[in-house]
Order: sequence, then C-alpha cells, then structure tokens
Amino acid sequence: MTATSTKETHAFQTEVKQLLDLMIHSLYSNKEIFLRELISNASDAADKLRFEATTDDALFEGDSDLHVFIDVDKDNRTITVRDNGIGMNRDEVIDNIGTIARSGTKEFFGQLSGDQEKDAHLIGQFGVGFYSSFLVADKVTLITRRAGLEKEHGVRWESTGDGEYELETVEKETRGTEITLHLREEADEFLDTWRLKSIIHKYADHIPFPIRMMGTPVPAAEGEEEKPAEIETVNQASALWTRPKSELTDEDYNNFYKHIGHDFEDPLAWLHQKLEGKYEYTLLLYLPRHAPFDLWQAEAKHGVKLYVRRVFIMEASEDLLPRYLRFVRGVMDTNDLPLNVSREILQQSPAMDAMKKGATKRVLGMLEDMAKNAGEAGEDDTVNTDYADFWSEFGNCLKEGIIEDFANRERIAKLLRFSSTESDEQSVSLSQYVERMKEGQDTIYFITAETLAAAKHSPHLEVFRKKGIEVLLLSDRIDEWLTSHLTEFDGKKLQSIAKGELDLSGIGENAEEAKKAQEEKAKAAEPAVKKIRESLGDKVKDVRVTDRLTESPACLVSDQFDMSSNMERILKQAGQDVPDMKPILEINPDHELVQRLAKMRSKDKINDFSSILFDQAILAEGALPEDPAGFVRKINALLKL
Ligand code: ADP
Ligand code: MG
Repeated sequence: MTATSTKETHAFQTEVKQLLDLMIHSLYSNKEIFLRELISNASDAADKLRFEATTDDALFEGDSDLHVFIDVDKDNRTITVRDNGIGMNRDEVIDNIGTIARSGTKEFFGQLSGDQEKDAHLIGQFGVGFYSSFLVADKVTLITRRAGLEKEHGVRWESTGDGEYELETVEKETRGTEITLHLREEADEFLDTWRLKSIIHKYADHIPFPIRMMGTPVPAAEGEEEKPAEIETVNQASALWTRPKSELTDEDYNNFYKHIGHDFEDPLAWLHQKLEGKYEYTLLLYLPRHAPFDLWQAEAKHGVKLYVRRVFIMEASEDLLPRYLRFVRGVMDTNDLPLNVSREILQQSPAMDAMKKGATKRVLGMLEDMAKNAGEAGEDDTVNTDYADFWSEFGNCLKEGIIEDFANRERIAKLLRFSSTESDEQSVSLSQYVERMKEGQDTIYFITAETLAAAKHSPHLEVFRKKGIEVLLLSDRIDEWLTSHLTEFDGKKLQSIAKGELDLSGIGENAEEAKKAQEEKAKAAEPAVKKIRESLGDKVKDVRVTDRLTESPACLVSDQFDMSSNMERILKQAGQDVPDMKPILEINPDHELVQRLAKMRSKDKINDFSSILFDQAILAEGALPEDPAGFVRKINALLKL
C-alpha cells in the first residue's frame, strides 16, 4: 500500500471551538497546566501500548523503553513533547483531536453561563486535555503513528486553534506521538528549562514512566573539552500508589489525583491502602470535591483504573466499584489477576469480585470516618464540613446504594442525611432522628414532596408540629424509591405521614383522654363526612375524619400500599402510564368549613363546598386541581357570601 500525502483542511466540531475560546479566557492565569495535560496523555498512551503489547509483543517494535521526552528549542521558540506510546492512526486523530466525543458535551456547553469565574470551574470538571496546548501556543503541530502500522502511515495534524486544522499523511520512523508547541510571545517563560523541570516535578513525579530532558552541558574545565549535555530523567517515575504512605505528601496525593481524576481541583479526601489476605491489592481511591458534569449520564466514564502488576488494564466500570459509588476516582492494582486475558474473563474472576467488595467496604469506611468528624473543629479551628460537602455533591448517588447494595444497606442507611422539621439543611441522620424520638414513638415519620418548601408547608405536618414530633422532609426524586426500599431502620418502621391512617395516640401526654375526645369529634362529624362522600363520589377512595390537621380543613392521603401522589406525579411527568390512584380525603372536624358543611341542606352548596375542600387539598400538595378555573369561581362565590 502506498501512502497518500494529501493535505486536507478540516473544521473543528463546534464544541471544540467553544471550548478553545472559553479555555483561553478562563484559564489564562493557569497556563502551566498544558504540560501536565500533555504528559498525562503521553502516559495514557504508554499505558495503552504496554497493555496491548501483553498479547502482541511485536507492537514494541524492539523498543520497550517507554518514556516521554521533552525538547526545548529556544531559537525557534518551540517545546516538543514526544512519546513512544500507542500513537494514533488517521481516523483516531480525527476522532480524538478535533472532536469531543464524550457523552453529554452538548448539555455541558448548555450549562455555561458566560460568567468567567463560574465557567472556569465548570471547565475544570469537563477537562480541557489536549486543547490546553493553545494556552501557550499559537500553533500546534502533532505528528503521530500508531504502533503496528508501517512508517508511511504517519499523520501530521496542525492548527492555529482558530476553527480549522490541517491533516496530512506523512512518514514517521518511530511509533508514538510528537507534539510541537509554537509558543506565543507571552509564553516565553516556558522556554526556560528550570521552569519546565519544576512544573514536571509538581505535576508528574508520580507518573510511572520516565520524563526525560537534555541536561545542561557541563562547562569545560581548564585544558578539557566541554562535556556534551546528557539526558536526564526529571521525575521520580515510580507509580505513586506503590510507594509507602510515609514517603508521600498531601501535595503528591493531590497532584496524582488531578492526573487520574482529570480534575483541576484538589480532592476532598482519599484512602491509600495495601490489602493482604486471600488476594493482595492496593487501593488508592479519591473523593472529588465536586461532581463531574456527567455524573447523571448513563454512559458516563467511570473513574477507577485497574492495574495488574503496574500495567494498566482498563478504566473502571462497574466491575471495580458498584454504580452508586461512581464518583470515586483512583487506582486499584493487584498481583492476583492474569495479565493477558480478555475483559470477560477478568470480570468473572473471584479476585475481581473480592477487590470490588473490599474497595466498597473501604469507601464506606472512609465516608463513615468523615461523617464522624463532621461538625468537629478541623484544622485551623474551622468546623469540618467535609461530610456536608460530600453529601451535597454526591448524596443522591449514595441513596442509590440503598436500592442497589442490599449487603451494605444498613451501613449506607447510617450515612444518609435529610432535612427535617428540625433542620432545613440536609444534616439529620436516621440515628439522630431515632435519638430524638418522643416517648412512646416507635416510627420514623417522613413526607415526600416535589420541593423542600412544599414538604415543609404540607398540612400533613400540622399535628406533628403540635405534638413536637420530628418529620423528615424528603424532596429529591430518588427519595420515593429510597423510602420504598428502606422500610426500617434500627428496628423502627419508616412511615410516610401522607399514607394510611395515622395513630399518634400513644405519643405524648394524656394519650388516653385525647383518644376519647377524638372519637367523640369523629362521631359529631359523621353527617359532614357522609355529605362529602356522596358529593365527591368516585373522585376519592374514601372520606374520613382525621386528627392530623389542626389548621387546614382537609388533606389528601394515599392508602398504605398505594403509590404516593408525589410518586404518581413523578412517573406521569416521565411519561409513564400510571394506574389511576384514588386518594383518601381526610377532614378536620374542628374546622369551621367542615362544621358549616355539616349543617347545610342545599345540594348545590354542599357540592361546591366539598369540591373546594378537595381542590384545596390538591393545591396544598403543590399540584393543580383538575379544573382550576372552576375552583376559582367557587372560591369567589364563597368570598361574596
Ligand atoms: P482525555 O485525555 O481526557 O481523553 P484529551 O483532550 O487530553 O482528553 O485527549 C483526547 C484524546 O486524544 C485522548 O483520549 C487520546 O485518545 C488522544 N491522545 C491525546 N494525546 C495522545 C498521545 N500522546 N498519544 C495517543 N493518543 C493521544
Ligand atoms: Mg488527557
């Protein structure tokens, strides 16, 4: 096959153009990261080659000394980053450099506000990778050849970052990728070898491949010739996770996280452990400070890398950690898996299963430690907010664990945090709730609603407020599923206060008397109940007297085993077919409207009053009555009276 040397011009994908603009505007004060990104890519490429070579030794082409070489040319004002990793073929160059193929990219750009500070933060979550070259360069030339291809299948890519790039087939003797940055005027500082070396130390000491540069020539001593400069290895070049903890600083851990997590920020917490037992493996796992933009995308990349004897095998997936811990980033390395077998065989190996279980346990343990220290004075006497920070970013993910991970359900349940009638912030744990339960209370009460405000102002809460009984206020979508799976905690039942009949008679003082008084009231309200029941007909499952209300005239409840009305709304909004659930209308016998209704004779008036009570109760849930205009008309008629 002969190589075609056609030169083509391609346009960047729209998103790439946007990314470039945004990056240059928001990251100009952090230019040095370009080197971190390029080294990070070179190291990934070396990882990939080493993995592919485990089944095809020929890919090494006789050169298995994987490394990165950085060359500075002061005269031409260029920096070249060269690797002998996997390289790319023409299609891969088009797909990887010039396109952003990640799922959710469109949504990501939709989130950008134009506010530079906010966007800079978002862009950190997204990761700018290769494109960060344009922070320092006004022209970037990339020449690459994929390992295993003939030398005439090299590809030359060049762009000035203004919307287009050129592509050309060229000859490339050695495999791998070479990226030359033609520096901008204001990026001269990066021509200084010392500056480059210090950046490499800062960001790439932990990269498990040597990063090499030319050393400075040794000046000639008297009567001798100048010694030529020798090649130096700048970084430590040992995999960070294999080094003893005692040797590593927080900065080492932070920098490694940025490489592995593709994040700009320091992590929130990490754990580094070597486990010995039936299987031996090392974990270095991190919790990010902020959720990545694609946390809720089904196809999102997961962030734990599997290494076998220091050889990179694959990027995470649910084989290494359960889905509900998908926010964890890091590395697992083991000696107990074979190197050159297929993914499928790996996935079925007992070692893998043991690692997944072990890692899950340790991550939960780390969260438990964080939760334990929450609120205590941390460094500099500031209050430790780590767990609260974690919860606000990833709490909803962790809730999935209740549904997904039966074996760890109890541990996860202890890690949950909710708002309640005692606290607007999501800071109440179930254990705390149980500790605060009233004398005689044996149930954990909660309410689900579309928003915290709707939950907080729900009429269902009235009697709980009066009796001083705490109620958990749940307003995340997932809470409906959560509470259908988590039905008990610490031997106490969890009960929705908008479902089933409520019996609070055993709680509080004078319980006996209160019960009697209530029975009498119910009796007195019987005529009203009958009238409303007849008037509403099959709009409701039943009408009954309640003691849950102290101020409102009526509220809706679901039958104990029916779907809650909030759940019904969620499913309907999601376009699902839901069987029509009829609610139960509960009325407050002490309320004036109810008492007036009991005395009414006119059919029309009874109908109007009944339907007002019903529609009001719907409104109080944050939903709309079936006929809003009709409701307004009836209310106005009532006002005129
Ligand atoms: P990321 O590293 O997060 O995937 P980048 O923008 O840094 O994003 O790189 C995009 C893609 O380009 C990489 O995933 C990889 O496929 C390819 N790539 C970049 N640099 C190299 C390199 N030195 N060798 C081989 N492939 C590379
Ligand atoms: Mg990258």
